[in-house]
Amino acid sequence: MKKLIKSRFIVPKKGTIIEEGGVLVEDAHIKGIYECPPPEGLEYDELIDLGNSILTPGFVNAHTHSAMVLFRGLADDLPLMEWLLQHIWPMEKTFVNEEFIRVGVELALVEMIRSGTVAFADMYFYQEVAAEVTKKAGLRAVLGEAIIDFPTPQFDNPDDTLKFTREFIGQYKDDELIYPTIAPHAPYSCSENLLRKTKELADEYEVPVLIHVAETQDEVNQLLDRYGKTPVRFLADIDFLDKNVVCAHVVWLDDEEIRIMVERGAGGTHQPSSNLKLASGIAPIHRYLKAGMKVALGTDGAASNNDLDMVNEMHIAALLQKVKEMDPTALPAWDAFHIATQGGAEVIGLGDRIGTLEEGKYADMIAFNLDAPHLTPIYNPISHLVYAAKSTDIHFVMVGGKVIMEDGVIKTIDEERAIARAREFSQKIIEKRAGIA
Ligand SMILES: [Zn+2]
Repeated sequence: MKKLIKSRFIVPKKGTIIEEGGVLVEDAHIKGIYECPPPEGLEYDELIDLGNSILTPGFVNAHTHSAMVLFRGLADDLPLMEWLLQHIWPMEKTFVNEEFIRVGVELALVEMIRSGTVAFADMYFYQEVAAEVTKKAGLRAVLGEAIIDFPTPQFDNPDDTLKFTREFIGQYKDDELIYPTIAPHAPYSCSENLLRKTKELADEYEVPVLIHVAETQDEVNQLLDRYGKTPVRFLADIDFLDKNVVCAHVVWLDDEEIRIMVERGAGGTHQPSSNLKLASGIAPIHRYLKAGMKVALGTDGAASNNDLDMVNEMHIAALLQKVKEMDPTALPAWDAFHIATQGGAEVIGLGDRIGTLEEGKYADMIAFNLDAPHLTPIYNPISHLVYAAKSTDIHFVMVGGKVIMEDGVIKTIDEERAIARAREFSQKIIEKRAGIA
């Protein structure tokens, strides 16, 4: 089955803009990118004409906890440790079960599809349920079962989580949409021994590892007290850090730690909304990119963002670096777009498969409708994508050649039902919440 997708503008990757172009898709993959009219004799079964749109690779949300949408707006205006220890962890202990994950992930997927995310890396619980729901919706995900030194909502001890993870990896190892992995929570919440065990398991199956690193100054101080080392140095010294490690946040790295990240080929993910809201700090990602470090963009969970909107995140990231550096040329629009697409794909281990629109890659793409006052006039599509577009302008989403959203209608999830179920579940939280957090 061949589809030709036409659009007024195509932005296939950083630095390239095609006007009046077409993308040829055969089954799950991209077969070619053309200037329109397509070459003589080009054959296809279906034409999808997106009209006055910008067609781009779909966004890669490189760090989230998707089911946490059900905790959206429950605990705001708090510092990270108080937010986590006194609110989030007790709520998770009480409410997170299979049903929570099923309902939460489905709602999160609706929100992600509407805001142009085609792939996400998720660290949370009951990932076998998240995998099932995500696969059904047709999105791509790197799913890591969260592991920590105390009981999780799902497992009584880390060894049971490791055992589950081994089975989970076995089950999805060759899947086209689900990429199973493991997610040790952070160097301050996992012992050295546990970190070594998770890395061994990840190495055995050559899967990425998701972990929070250097999110706050407080965390850096905890590590200094415990090991006499900052988080990145500590992880490097126990041979944890390499190209398969996805370090979320990396707000507080010194120059030597940036060098270590580059040498080891480890990637960092930037979650500006969450870092701003929890006052964790501003990761100097413009400097990271200049140093050659791999950088991705993510939303974090909706309990600290409070949404999963990558368009908004890209916008905030671009603005924030300029003030951080007091330099309006810092993180230019192309770089902001890059970390939200190709950069994200590279960091989560899917760089050879998604992140750009190129022949041979999966046909994972989205389109913004340009018929909007805030996108008029148009001189430079990349400027609009980063500085003016809104996620509500996205009307078309395709993953692996399959149309997930068309004309603003989601094809793979019953959106009304997903929202109704989430509302219903929130009633249980409201009723039981008193006295917990
Ligand atoms: Zn996180």
